[in-house]
Amino acid sequence: MSEHLNNSSVEGKKSLNFIEQIVETDLAEGKNDGRIQTRFPPEPNGYLHIGHAKAICIDFGIAQRYGGVCNLRFDDTNPVKEDVEYVDAIREDIEWLGFKWGNVYYASDYFQKLYDFAERLILEGHAYVDEQTAEQIAAQKGTPTVPGVASPYRDRPAEESLDLFRRMNAGEFEEGAMILRAKIDMASSNMHFRDPIIYRIIKHAHHRTGHDWNVYPMYDFAHGQSDYFEGVTHSICTLEFEVHRPLYNYFIELLRKDNYAPRQIEFNRLNLTYTMMSKRKLLQLVKDGLVAGWDDPRMPTICGYRRRGYTPESIRSFIDKIGYTKYDGIIDVALLEHAVREDLNKRATRVSGVIDPVKLVITNYPEGKVEQMTAVNNPEDESAGTHTIPFARELYIEREDFMEDAPKKYFRMTPGQEVRLKSSYIVRCTGCKKDEQGVVTEVYAEYDPMTLSGMPESNRKVKGTIHWVSAEHSLSAEVRLYDRLFTDENPSDVKDKTLEEMINPDSLKVLTHCRVEPFLADAAVGAHFQFQRIGYFTVDRDSRSGALVFNRTVSLKDSWQKTQQKT
Ligand code: ATP
Ligand code: MG
Repeated sequence: MSEHLNNSSVEGKKSLNFIEQIVETDLAEGKNDGRIQTRFPPEPNGYLHIGHAKAICIDFGIAQRYGGVCNLRFDDTNPVKEDVEYVDAIREDIEWLGFKWGNVYYASDYFQKLYDFAERLILEGHAYVDEQTAEQIAAQKGTPTVPGVASPYRDRPAEESLDLFRRMNAGEFEEGAMILRAKIDMASSNMHFRDPIIYRIIKHAHHRTGHDWNVYPMYDFAHGQSDYFEGVTHSICTLEFEVHRPLYNYFIELLRKDNYAPRQIEFNRLNLTYTMMSKRKLLQLVKDGLVAGWDDPRMPTICGYRRRGYTPESIRSFIDKIGYTKYDGIIDVALLEHAVREDLNKRATRVSGVIDPVKLVITNYPEGKVEQMTAVNNPEDESAGTHTIPFARELYIEREDFMEDAPKKYFRMTPGQEVRLKSSYIVRCTGCKKDEQGVVTEVYAEYDPMTLSGMPESNRKVKGTIHWVSAEHSLSAEVRLYDRLFTDENPSDVKDKTLEEMINPDSLKVLTHCRVEPFLADAAVGAHFQFQRIGYFTVDRDSRSGALVFNRTVSLKDSWQKTQQKT
Protein backbone atom coordinates (compact mmCIF):
# COMPACT_ATOMS: atom_id res chain seq x y z
CA MET A 1 0.00 0.00 0.00
CA SER A 2 2.71 2.45 0.93
CA GLU A 3 4.84 4.03 -1.70
CA HIS A 4 8.39 2.96 -2.36
CA LEU A 5 11.02 4.90 -0.54
CA ASN A 6 13.51 6.69 -2.69
CA ASN A 7 16.88 5.12 -3.25
CA SER A 8 18.78 7.47 -1.03
CA SER A 9 17.12 6.27 2.16
CA VAL A 10 17.15 2.61 1.21
CA GLU A 11 20.87 2.53 0.52
CA GLY A 12 21.59 4.65 3.58
CA LYS A 13 23.83 6.77 1.35
CA LYS A 14 22.53 10.21 0.54
CA SER A 15 22.19 11.02 -3.11
CA LEU A 16 20.75 14.35 -4.20
CA ASN A 17 16.99 14.56 -4.50
CA PHE A 18 15.58 16.00 -7.74
CA ILE A 19 15.11 19.46 -6.20
CA GLU A 20 18.73 19.59 -5.03
CA GLN A 21 19.76 18.49 -8.52
CA ILE A 22 17.82 21.37 -10.09
CA VAL A 23 19.33 23.85 -7.65
CA GLU A 24 22.86 22.56 -8.27
CA THR A 25 22.36 22.80 -12.03
CA ASP A 26 21.10 26.38 -11.67
CA LEU A 27 24.12 27.21 -9.51
CA ALA A 28 26.50 25.59 -11.99
CA GLU A 29 24.96 27.66 -14.79
CA GLY A 30 25.44 30.81 -12.74
CA LYS A 31 21.73 31.64 -12.54
CA ASN A 32 20.72 34.49 -10.18
CA ASP A 33 24.44 35.19 -9.63
CA GLY A 34 24.63 32.15 -7.39
CA ARG A 35 21.99 33.48 -5.05
CA ILE A 36 19.60 30.99 -3.38
CA GLN A 37 16.38 32.25 -1.87
CA THR A 38 13.35 30.17 -0.92
CA ARG A 39 10.21 30.85 1.09
CA PHE A 40 7.74 28.92 3.17
CA PRO A 41 4.28 30.38 2.36
CA PRO A 42 1.61 29.17 4.79
CA GLU A 43 -1.88 30.58 4.69
CA PRO A 44 -2.65 31.59 8.30
CA ASN A 45 -5.99 29.76 8.29
CA GLY A 46 -5.06 26.89 10.58
CA TYR A 47 -2.24 25.21 12.46
CA LEU A 48 0.66 23.57 10.68
CA HIS A 49 0.47 19.81 10.18
CA ILE A 50 3.02 17.11 9.39
CA GLY A 51 2.52 17.75 5.65
CA HIS A 52 3.71 21.31 6.18
CA ALA A 53 6.75 19.89 7.96
CA LYS A 54 7.67 18.21 4.68
CA ALA A 55 7.45 21.56 2.86
CA ILE A 56 9.35 23.32 5.66
CA CYS A 57 12.19 20.79 5.57
CA ILE A 58 12.79 21.31 1.84
CA ASP A 59 12.22 25.10 1.81
CA PHE A 60 14.55 25.73 4.74
CA GLY A 61 16.78 22.75 3.93
CA ILE A 62 17.64 24.00 0.43
CA ALA A 63 18.52 27.46 1.78
CA GLN A 64 20.68 25.97 4.52
CA ARG A 65 22.46 23.53 2.28
CA TYR A 66 23.32 26.09 -0.40
CA GLY A 67 24.13 29.08 1.78
CA GLY A 68 20.91 30.90 0.96
CA VAL A 69 18.01 32.30 2.90
CA CYS A 70 14.48 31.05 3.45
CA ASN A 71 11.87 33.66 4.32
CA LEU A 72 8.57 33.12 6.00
CA ARG A 73 5.67 34.52 4.01
CA PHE A 74 2.13 34.51 5.29
CA ASP A 75 -0.10 33.99 2.30
CA ASP A 76 -2.89 36.08 3.77
CA THR A 77 -5.06 36.91 0.77
CA ASN A 78 -8.38 35.61 2.12
CA PRO A 79 -9.44 37.60 5.22
CA VAL A 80 -12.49 35.42 5.80
CA LYS A 81 -10.50 32.44 7.05
CA GLU A 82 -7.37 34.02 8.45
CA ASP A 83 -6.39 35.04 11.94
CA VAL A 84 -3.40 36.25 14.02
CA GLU A 85 -3.84 33.24 16.30
CA TYR A 86 -2.63 31.13 13.38
CA VAL A 87 0.21 33.50 12.52
CA ASP A 88 1.65 33.15 16.04
CA ALA A 89 1.20 29.38 16.13
CA ILE A 90 2.91 28.95 12.76
CA ARG A 91 5.97 30.89 13.91
CA GLU A 92 6.21 28.85 17.09
CA ASP A 93 5.95 25.54 15.24
CA ILE A 94 8.61 26.38 12.65
CA GLU A 95 11.04 27.39 15.40
CA TRP A 96 10.26 24.25 17.34
CA LEU A 97 11.05 22.17 14.25
CA GLY A 98 14.49 23.79 14.39
CA PHE A 99 14.42 26.26 11.49
CA LYS A 100 15.25 29.96 11.29
CA TRP A 101 13.77 32.25 8.67
CA GLY A 102 15.42 35.34 7.25
CA ASN A 103 12.57 37.86 6.97
CA VAL A 104 8.89 37.61 7.74
CA TYR A 105 6.70 38.84 4.88
CA TYR A 106 2.98 38.98 4.33
CA ALA A 107 1.28 38.76 0.95
CA SER A 108 -0.87 41.60 2.30
CA ASP A 109 2.29 43.77 2.23
CA TYR A 110 1.93 43.62 -1.56
CA PHE A 111 -1.76 44.51 -1.82
CA GLN A 112 -0.96 47.96 -3.24
CA LYS A 113 1.62 46.66 -5.71
CA LEU A 114 -0.68 43.87 -6.82
CA TYR A 115 -3.56 46.29 -7.20
CA ASP A 116 -1.41 48.65 -9.28
CA PHE A 117 -0.34 45.73 -11.46
CA ALA A 118 -3.99 44.77 -11.96
CA GLU A 119 -4.84 48.30 -13.09
CA ARG A 120 -1.93 48.16 -15.50
CA LEU A 121 -3.19 44.87 -16.93
CA ILE A 122 -6.64 46.41 -17.44
CA LEU A 123 -5.18 49.38 -19.28
CA GLU A 124 -3.01 47.14 -21.43
CA GLY A 125 -5.99 44.98 -22.39
CA HIS A 126 -4.94 41.96 -20.28
CA ALA A 127 -7.84 42.09 -17.82
CA TYR A 128 -11.54 42.99 -17.66
CA VAL A 129 -14.35 43.24 -15.17
CA ASP A 130 -16.92 40.49 -15.61
CA GLU A 131 -20.40 41.03 -14.19
CA GLN A 132 -21.62 37.47 -14.66
CA THR A 133 -22.39 35.15 -11.77
CA ALA A 134 -19.95 32.45 -10.73
CA GLU A 135 -22.36 29.86 -12.20
CA GLN A 136 -22.47 31.59 -15.58
CA ILE A 137 -18.69 31.81 -15.68
CA ALA A 138 -18.30 28.17 -14.71
CA ALA A 139 -20.77 27.13 -17.42
CA GLN A 140 -18.64 28.89 -20.06
CA LYS A 141 -15.35 27.24 -19.03
CA GLY A 142 -15.62 24.37 -21.50
CA THR A 143 -13.63 21.18 -20.99
CA PRO A 144 -9.99 20.40 -21.77
CA THR A 145 -11.08 19.34 -25.27
CA VAL A 146 -13.92 21.83 -25.78
CA PRO A 147 -12.98 25.53 -25.90
CA GLY A 148 -14.68 27.88 -23.48
CA VAL A 149 -17.20 30.58 -24.42
CA ALA A 150 -16.17 34.23 -24.18
CA SER A 151 -17.91 36.37 -21.59
CA PRO A 152 -20.13 39.13 -23.03
CA TYR A 153 -17.99 41.57 -21.01
CA ARG A 154 -14.69 40.30 -22.42
CA ASP A 155 -14.26 43.12 -24.92
CA ARG A 156 -15.64 46.01 -22.92
CA PRO A 157 -13.45 49.17 -23.11
CA ALA A 158 -10.47 49.28 -20.72
CA GLU A 159 -11.72 52.59 -19.24
CA GLU A 160 -15.00 50.96 -18.29
CA SER A 161 -13.23 48.02 -16.58
CA LEU A 162 -10.88 50.39 -14.82
CA ASP A 163 -13.76 52.50 -13.51
CA LEU A 164 -15.64 49.42 -12.30
CA PHE A 165 -12.52 47.91 -10.70
CA ARG A 166 -11.92 51.13 -8.76
CA ARG A 167 -15.51 51.22 -7.64
CA MET A 168 -15.31 47.52 -6.64
CA ASN A 169 -12.45 48.47 -4.38
CA ALA A 170 -14.28 51.57 -3.11
CA GLY A 171 -16.94 49.25 -1.74
CA GLU A 172 -19.73 50.27 -4.14
CA PHE A 173 -20.70 46.69 -5.04
CA GLU A 174 -21.71 43.62 -3.09
CA GLU A 175 -19.59 40.48 -2.90
CA GLY A 176 -20.07 38.37 -6.02
CA ALA A 177 -21.54 41.24 -8.07
CA MET A 178 -18.50 41.27 -10.35
CA ILE A 179 -14.92 40.03 -10.53
CA LEU A 180 -11.75 40.93 -12.37
CA ARG A 181 -10.54 38.37 -14.90
CA ALA A 182 -7.29 38.08 -16.77
CA LYS A 183 -7.91 38.10 -20.53
CA ILE A 184 -5.78 35.27 -21.85
CA ASP A 185 -7.17 32.45 -24.00
CA MET A 186 -10.62 30.84 -23.71
CA ALA A 187 -9.47 27.98 -25.97
CA SER A 188 -6.24 27.13 -24.13
CA SER A 189 -5.66 23.46 -23.40
CA ASN A 190 -4.60 24.59 -19.94
CA MET A 191 -7.86 25.42 -18.20
CA HIS A 192 -6.06 27.88 -15.92
CA PHE A 193 -5.51 30.11 -18.96
CA ARG A 194 -9.21 30.46 -19.75
CA ASP A 195 -9.55 33.97 -18.36
CA PRO A 196 -8.82 33.13 -14.73
CA ILE A 197 -10.38 35.21 -11.97
CA ILE A 198 -7.70 37.41 -10.42
CA TYR A 199 -9.64 39.66 -8.01
CA ARG A 200 -12.85 39.25 -6.07
CA ILE A 201 -14.83 41.49 -3.71
CA ILE A 202 -14.56 40.55 -0.01
CA LYS A 203 -16.00 42.85 2.66
CA HIS A 204 -14.64 40.96 5.65
CA ALA A 205 -12.03 42.72 7.84
CA HIS A 206 -8.46 41.58 7.17
CA HIS A 207 -6.34 40.64 10.21
CA ARG A 208 -3.65 43.14 9.17
CA THR A 209 -5.18 45.66 6.78
CA GLY A 210 -8.64 45.94 8.33
CA HIS A 211 -11.11 47.48 5.87
CA ASP A 212 -8.47 49.15 3.65
CA TRP A 213 -9.38 46.86 0.76
CA ASN A 214 -12.62 45.60 -0.68
CA VAL A 215 -10.95 43.55 -3.40
CA TYR A 216 -8.53 40.70 -2.77
CA PRO A 217 -6.22 38.92 -5.23
CA MET A 218 -6.65 35.20 -5.97
CA TYR A 219 -3.81 32.78 -5.18
CA ASP A 220 -2.64 32.67 -8.81
CA PHE A 221 -2.41 36.44 -8.95
CA ALA A 222 -0.59 36.79 -5.63
CA HIS A 223 1.82 33.93 -5.23
CA GLY A 224 4.17 34.27 -8.17
CA GLN A 225 4.24 38.06 -7.97
CA SER A 226 5.03 37.87 -4.24
CA ASP A 227 7.91 35.52 -5.08
CA TYR A 228 9.09 38.04 -7.67
CA PHE A 229 8.84 41.08 -5.34
CA GLU A 230 10.91 39.28 -2.71
CA GLY A 231 13.57 37.91 -5.04
CA VAL A 232 12.79 34.22 -4.53
CA THR A 233 14.96 32.05 -6.76
CA HIS A 234 13.33 28.66 -6.17
CA SER A 235 9.65 28.55 -5.28
CA ILE A 236 9.06 25.01 -4.06
CA CYS A 237 5.49 23.77 -3.72
CA THR A 238 3.36 20.65 -4.01
CA LEU A 239 2.40 18.82 -7.20
CA GLU A 240 -1.14 20.17 -7.49
CA PHE A 241 0.41 23.51 -8.49
CA GLU A 242 2.21 22.00 -11.47
CA VAL A 243 -0.75 22.88 -13.73
CA HIS A 244 -0.67 26.44 -12.38
CA ARG A 245 2.99 26.90 -13.30
CA PRO A 246 2.38 28.28 -16.85
CA LEU A 247 0.09 30.94 -15.34
CA TYR A 248 2.65 31.64 -12.61
CA ASN A 249 5.22 32.27 -15.34
CA TYR A 250 2.77 34.24 -17.49
CA PHE A 251 2.07 36.90 -14.85
CA ILE A 252 5.74 37.21 -13.90
CA GLU A 253 6.58 37.65 -17.58
CA LEU A 254 4.14 40.58 -17.77
CA LEU A 255 5.36 42.03 -14.49
CA ARG A 256 9.11 41.81 -14.62
CA LYS A 257 11.43 44.52 -15.80
CA ASP A 258 14.69 42.54 -15.71
CA ASN A 259 16.09 39.08 -16.45
CA TYR A 260 15.31 37.69 -13.07
CA ALA A 261 12.38 35.31 -12.58
CA PRO A 262 11.61 32.90 -9.73
CA ARG A 263 11.38 29.25 -10.68
CA GLN A 264 8.58 27.04 -9.43
CA ILE A 265 9.39 23.40 -8.58
CA GLU A 266 6.77 20.90 -7.46
CA PHE A 267 7.12 17.81 -5.25
CA ASN A 268 4.72 15.14 -3.96
CA ARG A 269 2.69 16.13 -0.94
CA LEU A 270 2.74 13.98 2.15
CA ASN A 271 -0.23 11.69 2.71
CA LEU A 272 -0.23 9.37 5.71
CA THR A 273 -2.35 6.32 6.42
CA TYR A 274 -5.01 6.72 9.15
CA THR A 275 -4.45 10.48 8.97
CA MET A 276 -6.37 13.42 7.56
CA MET A 277 -4.35 16.47 6.64
CA SER A 278 -6.68 19.04 5.15
CA LYS A 279 -6.83 22.13 7.36
CA ARG A 280 -10.53 22.44 6.63
CA LYS A 281 -11.18 18.98 8.08
CA LEU A 282 -8.85 19.57 11.02
CA LEU A 283 -10.69 22.80 11.80
CA GLN A 284 -13.96 20.89 11.70
CA LEU A 285 -12.63 18.31 14.18
CA VAL A 286 -11.76 21.16 16.53
CA LYS A 287 -14.99 23.10 16.02
CA ASP A 288 -17.20 20.04 16.44
CA GLY A 289 -15.40 19.16 19.67
CA LEU A 290 -14.34 15.75 18.31
CA VAL A 291 -10.82 16.44 19.61
CA ALA A 292 -9.66 18.58 22.53
CA GLY A 293 -8.19 21.33 20.30
CA TRP A 294 -5.54 21.87 17.64
CA ASP A 295 -2.92 20.41 19.98
CA ASP A 296 -4.90 17.33 20.92
CA PRO A 297 -2.16 14.66 20.90
CA ARG A 298 -4.13 12.67 18.31
CA MET A 299 -4.04 15.52 15.81
CA PRO A 300 -1.52 15.43 12.93
CA THR A 301 -0.60 19.02 13.73
CA ILE A 302 2.92 19.97 14.74
CA CYS A 303 1.61 21.18 18.13
CA GLY A 304 -0.33 17.93 18.52
CA TYR A 305 2.79 15.85 17.91
CA ARG A 306 4.73 18.10 20.28
CA ARG A 307 2.17 17.57 23.04
CA ARG A 308 2.15 13.87 22.28
CA GLY A 309 5.90 13.74 22.94
CA TYR A 310 7.35 13.64 19.43
CA THR A 311 10.70 15.39 19.07
CA PRO A 312 11.59 17.77 16.23
CA GLU A 313 14.45 15.42 15.40
CA SER A 314 12.07 12.49 14.94
CA ILE A 315 9.85 14.47 12.56
CA ARG A 316 12.83 15.68 10.54
CA SER A 317 14.26 12.18 10.39
CA PHE A 318 10.92 10.84 9.15
CA ILE A 319 10.78 13.50 6.41
CA ASP A 320 14.32 12.60 5.46
CA LYS A 321 13.41 8.92 5.15
CA ILE A 322 10.42 9.50 2.84
CA GLY A 323 12.23 11.89 0.51
CA TYR A 324 10.89 14.05 -2.34
CA THR A 325 9.55 12.72 -5.62
CA LYS A 326 7.23 13.64 -8.48
CA TYR A 327 4.65 10.95 -7.69
CA ASP A 328 1.82 11.14 -5.20
CA GLY A 329 1.40 8.23 -2.84
CA ILE A 330 0.55 7.39 0.71
CA ILE A 331 3.08 6.73 3.45
CA ASP A 332 2.50 4.14 6.17
CA VAL A 333 2.08 6.01 9.48
CA ALA A 334 4.04 3.15 11.07
CA LEU A 335 7.16 4.71 9.52
CA LEU A 336 6.58 7.93 11.45
CA GLU A 337 6.06 5.93 14.63
CA HIS A 338 9.26 4.04 13.87
CA ALA A 339 11.16 7.32 13.52
CA VAL A 340 9.97 8.60 16.89
CA ARG A 341 10.85 5.31 18.61
CA GLU A 342 14.29 5.37 17.06
CA ASP A 343 14.88 8.92 18.35
CA LEU A 344 13.37 8.45 21.82
CA ASN A 345 15.35 5.26 22.30
CA LYS A 346 18.43 7.49 22.24
CA ARG A 347 17.15 10.22 24.54
CA ALA A 348 14.38 8.96 26.84
CA THR A 349 15.13 8.27 30.51
CA ARG A 350 14.04 4.78 31.57
CA VAL A 351 11.63 4.78 34.46
CA SER A 352 9.11 2.53 36.17
CA GLY A 353 5.46 3.23 35.65
CA VAL A 354 2.74 0.70 36.43
CA ILE A 355 -0.34 1.54 34.42
CA ASP A 356 -2.66 -1.21 35.69
CA PRO A 357 -1.43 -1.90 39.22
CA VAL A 358 -1.93 -4.88 41.49
CA LYS A 359 -0.15 -5.15 44.82
CA LEU A 360 2.80 -7.51 45.27
CA VAL A 361 3.84 -8.32 48.85
CA ILE A 362 7.35 -9.70 49.42
CA THR A 363 6.42 -11.72 52.50
CA ASN A 364 9.97 -12.41 53.69
CA TYR A 365 11.17 -8.80 53.30
CA PRO A 366 11.37 -6.86 56.60
CA GLU A 367 8.51 -4.48 57.28
CA GLY A 368 9.59 -0.85 57.32
CA LYS A 369 12.84 -1.52 55.44
CA VAL A 370 13.57 0.59 52.35
CA GLU A 371 16.48 0.08 49.95
CA GLN A 372 17.49 2.52 47.24
CA MET A 373 18.10 0.50 44.09
CA THR A 374 20.22 1.85 41.27
CA ALA A 375 18.33 2.27 37.99
CA VAL A 376 20.18 2.89 34.72
CA ASN A 377 18.80 6.00 32.98
CA ASN A 378 19.50 4.85 29.46
CA PRO A 379 21.26 1.64 28.45
CA GLU A 380 21.89 3.25 25.01
CA ASP A 381 23.78 6.15 26.57
CA GLU A 382 26.16 5.56 29.46
CA SER A 383 26.62 9.30 30.01
CA ALA A 384 22.93 9.59 30.98
CA GLY A 385 23.90 8.10 34.36
CA THR A 386 21.63 6.48 36.94
CA HIS A 387 18.98 7.36 39.49
CA THR A 388 17.62 5.51 42.51
CA ILE A 389 14.30 3.78 42.96
CA PRO A 390 13.05 2.79 46.44
CA PHE A 391 12.33 -0.88 47.11
CA ALA A 392 10.11 -2.01 50.01
CA ARG A 393 8.00 -4.92 51.19
CA GLU A 394 4.88 -3.79 49.34
CA LEU A 395 5.13 -3.05 45.65
CA TYR A 396 2.87 -2.59 42.65
CA ILE A 397 3.29 -4.61 39.49
CA GLU A 398 1.21 -4.75 36.30
CA ARG A 399 -1.90 -6.83 36.68
CA GLU A 400 -1.05 -8.65 33.44
CA ASP A 401 2.34 -9.65 34.86
CA PHE A 402 0.63 -12.17 37.16
CA MET A 403 -1.30 -15.29 36.17
CA GLU A 404 -2.53 -17.90 38.59
CA ASP A 405 -2.76 -20.65 35.97
CA ALA A 406 -0.18 -19.73 33.41
CA PRO A 407 0.63 -21.47 30.14
CA LYS A 408 4.11 -22.91 29.66
CA LYS A 409 5.66 -19.94 27.88
CA TYR A 410 4.49 -17.40 30.49
CA PHE A 411 7.71 -16.20 32.09
CA ARG A 412 6.27 -13.64 34.47
CA MET A 413 4.68 -14.03 37.95
CA THR A 414 2.97 -17.34 38.50
CA PRO A 415 3.06 -19.53 41.61
CA GLY A 416 6.34 -21.46 41.93
CA GLN A 417 8.19 -19.46 39.25
CA GLU A 418 11.09 -17.05 39.70
CA VAL A 419 11.29 -13.65 38.03
CA ARG A 420 13.72 -10.76 38.26
CA LEU A 421 12.30 -7.49 39.55
CA LYS A 422 14.03 -4.95 37.32
CA SER A 423 17.14 -3.38 38.99
CA SER A 424 16.39 -5.43 42.11
CA TYR A 425 16.02 -8.96 43.49
CA ILE A 426 14.91 -12.24 42.06
CA VAL A 427 11.64 -13.27 43.68
CA ARG A 428 9.63 -16.50 43.65
CA CYS A 429 5.87 -16.18 43.45
CA THR A 430 4.03 -18.01 46.23
CA GLY A 431 0.38 -17.27 45.49
CA CYS A 432 -2.29 -14.63 45.56
CA LYS A 433 -5.44 -13.39 47.28
CA LYS A 434 -8.75 -12.88 45.45
CA ASP A 435 -11.99 -11.13 46.22
CA GLU A 436 -15.46 -12.69 45.99
CA GLN A 437 -15.62 -12.09 42.25
CA GLY A 438 -12.33 -13.91 41.80
CA VAL A 439 -10.37 -10.76 41.01
CA VAL A 440 -6.78 -10.90 42.23
CA THR A 441 -6.23 -8.27 44.93
CA GLU A 442 -2.72 -9.18 46.12
CA VAL A 443 0.13 -11.27 44.80
CA TYR A 444 2.68 -12.84 47.12
CA ALA A 445 6.34 -13.67 46.60
CA GLU A 446 9.55 -14.31 48.52
CA TYR A 447 12.82 -12.67 47.59
CA ASP A 448 16.31 -14.10 47.55
CA PRO A 449 18.60 -11.57 49.32
CA MET A 450 21.67 -12.88 47.44
CA THR A 451 20.41 -11.92 43.98
CA LEU A 452 21.09 -8.17 43.82
CA SER A 453 23.53 -7.09 41.14
CA GLY A 454 27.08 -7.94 42.27
CA MET A 455 25.97 -10.64 44.75
CA PRO A 456 26.81 -14.36 44.46
CA GLU A 457 23.42 -15.40 43.07
CA SER A 458 22.89 -12.36 40.86
CA ASN A 459 23.60 -14.25 37.64
CA ARG A 460 21.08 -16.98 38.29
CA LYS A 461 19.08 -17.58 35.14
CA VAL A 462 15.48 -16.45 35.27
CA LYS A 463 13.43 -16.12 32.12
CA GLY A 464 11.42 -13.01 32.96
CA THR A 465 12.08 -9.49 34.21
CA ILE A 466 9.20 -7.29 35.28
CA HIS A 467 8.95 -3.68 36.42
CA TRP A 468 7.53 -2.48 39.72
CA VAL A 469 7.18 0.53 42.01
CA SER A 470 7.07 0.78 45.78
CA ALA A 471 3.48 0.99 47.04
CA GLU A 472 4.33 3.57 49.67
CA HIS A 473 6.80 5.70 47.72
CA SER A 474 5.23 5.72 44.28
CA LEU A 475 3.07 8.58 43.03
CA SER A 476 -0.34 8.30 41.56
CA ALA A 477 -0.63 9.44 37.97
CA GLU A 478 -3.06 9.74 35.11
CA VAL A 479 -1.91 8.13 31.90
CA ARG A 480 -3.45 8.92 28.53
CA LEU A 481 -3.05 6.22 25.94
CA TYR A 482 -3.43 7.44 22.38
CA ASP A 483 -4.03 5.50 19.25
CA ARG A 484 -4.74 6.45 15.62
CA LEU A 485 -7.52 8.99 15.35
CA PHE A 486 -9.26 7.26 12.42
CA THR A 487 -10.14 3.63 11.86
CA ASP A 488 -9.95 3.87 8.06
CA GLU A 489 -6.59 3.45 6.42
CA ASN A 490 -7.31 6.35 4.08
CA PRO A 491 -9.87 8.54 5.85
CA SER A 492 -9.76 11.26 3.18
CA ASP A 493 -11.26 8.80 0.67
CA VAL A 494 -14.22 7.84 2.86
CA LYS A 495 -17.39 9.35 1.44
CA ASP A 496 -20.31 7.74 3.26
CA LYS A 497 -19.44 8.53 6.89
CA THR A 498 -19.39 11.66 9.02
CA LEU A 499 -16.14 12.68 10.69
CA GLU A 500 -17.59 11.56 13.99
CA GLU A 501 -18.36 8.10 12.62
CA MET A 502 -14.84 7.77 11.29
CA ILE A 503 -13.10 8.38 14.60
CA ASN A 504 -11.43 5.40 16.25
CA PRO A 505 -13.39 4.89 19.51
CA ASP A 506 -10.18 3.61 21.12
CA SER A 507 -8.08 6.59 20.06
CA LEU A 508 -7.95 7.82 23.67
CA LYS A 509 -7.98 5.75 26.84
CA VAL A 510 -7.50 7.53 30.14
CA LEU A 511 -6.10 5.46 33.01
CA THR A 512 -6.43 7.28 36.31
CA HIS A 513 -4.98 4.80 38.81
CA CYS A 514 -1.43 4.46 37.56
CA ARG A 515 1.60 4.50 39.84
CA VAL A 516 4.98 5.92 38.90
CA GLU A 517 8.30 5.95 40.71
CA PRO A 518 9.03 9.05 42.86
CA PHE A 519 11.86 10.12 40.52
CA LEU A 520 9.08 11.54 38.28
CA ALA A 521 7.74 13.91 40.95
CA ASP A 522 9.27 17.02 39.36
CA ALA A 523 9.47 15.91 35.72
CA ALA A 524 9.16 18.89 33.39
CA VAL A 525 6.32 19.27 30.92
CA GLY A 526 7.50 17.82 27.63
CA ALA A 527 10.29 15.68 29.13
CA HIS A 528 10.68 12.27 27.49
CA PHE A 529 10.56 8.97 29.37
CA GLN A 530 10.41 5.32 28.58
CA PHE A 531 8.08 3.51 30.94
CA GLN A 532 9.97 0.26 30.75
CA ARG A 533 8.22 -2.53 28.88
CA ILE A 534 5.29 -0.21 28.03
CA GLY A 535 6.21 2.67 25.81
CA TYR A 536 7.47 6.21 25.51
CA PHE A 537 5.70 8.88 27.52
CA THR A 538 5.87 12.60 28.04
CA VAL A 539 4.57 14.92 30.74
CA ASP A 540 1.39 16.65 29.56
CA ARG A 541 0.80 20.34 30.10
CA ASP A 542 -2.19 19.41 32.32
CA SER A 543 0.26 17.81 34.78
CA ARG A 544 0.58 19.32 38.28
CA SER A 545 2.72 18.42 41.24
CA GLY A 546 0.65 15.83 43.05
CA ALA A 547 -1.56 15.22 39.99
CA LEU A 548 0.81 13.98 37.33
CA VAL A 549 -0.42 13.43 33.77
CA PHE A 550 1.51 11.48 31.16
CA ASN A 551 0.79 11.09 27.46
CA ARG A 552 1.84 7.95 25.69
CA THR A 553 3.87 9.08 22.71
CA VAL A 554 4.14 5.63 21.16
CA SER A 555 4.19 2.04 22.37
CA LEU A 556 7.37 -0.02 22.22
CA LYS A 557 6.10 -2.48 19.62
CA ASP A 558 7.37 -1.49 16.22
CA SER A 559 5.01 -2.57 13.46
CA TRP A 560 7.20 -0.89 10.83
CA GLN A 561 10.24 -3.02 11.65
CA LYS A 562 8.04 -6.11 11.51
CA THR A 563 6.70 -5.34 8.04
CA GLN A 564 10.23 -4.57 6.84
CA GLN A 565 11.53 -7.91 8.10
CA LYS A 566 8.76 -9.80 6.32
CA THR A 567 9.71 -8.42 2.93
P1 ATP B 1 -4.29 22.21 3.33
O1 ATP B 1 -4.60 21.69 1.97
O2 ATP B 1 -3.97 21.18 4.34
O3 ATP B 1 -5.29 23.20 3.83
P2 ATP B 1 -2.60 24.16 2.18
O4 ATP B 1 -1.82 23.65 1.05
O5 ATP B 1 -3.78 25.00 1.90
O6 ATP B 1 -2.93 22.97 3.18
P3 ATP B 1 -0.80 26.20 2.94
O7 ATP B 1 -0.79 26.94 4.22
O8 ATP B 1 -1.25 26.93 1.72
O9 ATP B 1 -1.69 24.92 3.18
O10 ATP B 1 0.57 25.47 2.69
C1 ATP B 1 1.83 26.05 2.85
C2 ATP B 1 2.81 25.18 2.13
O11 ATP B 1 2.80 23.87 2.65
C3 ATP B 1 2.50 25.09 0.65
O12 ATP B 1 3.70 25.25 -0.08
C4 ATP B 1 1.93 23.71 0.50
O13 ATP B 1 2.19 23.19 -0.77
C5 ATP B 1 2.66 22.94 1.60
N1 ATP B 1 1.88 21.78 2.03
C6 ATP B 1 0.61 21.78 2.50
N2 ATP B 1 0.20 20.52 2.72
C7 ATP B 1 1.24 19.70 2.42
C8 ATP B 1 1.45 18.28 2.44
N3 ATP B 1 0.50 17.43 2.84
N4 ATP B 1 2.65 17.80 2.06
C9 ATP B 1 3.62 18.64 1.67
N5 ATP B 1 3.50 19.98 1.61
C10 ATP B 1 2.32 20.51 1.98
MG1 MG C 1 -3.24 26.75 0.49
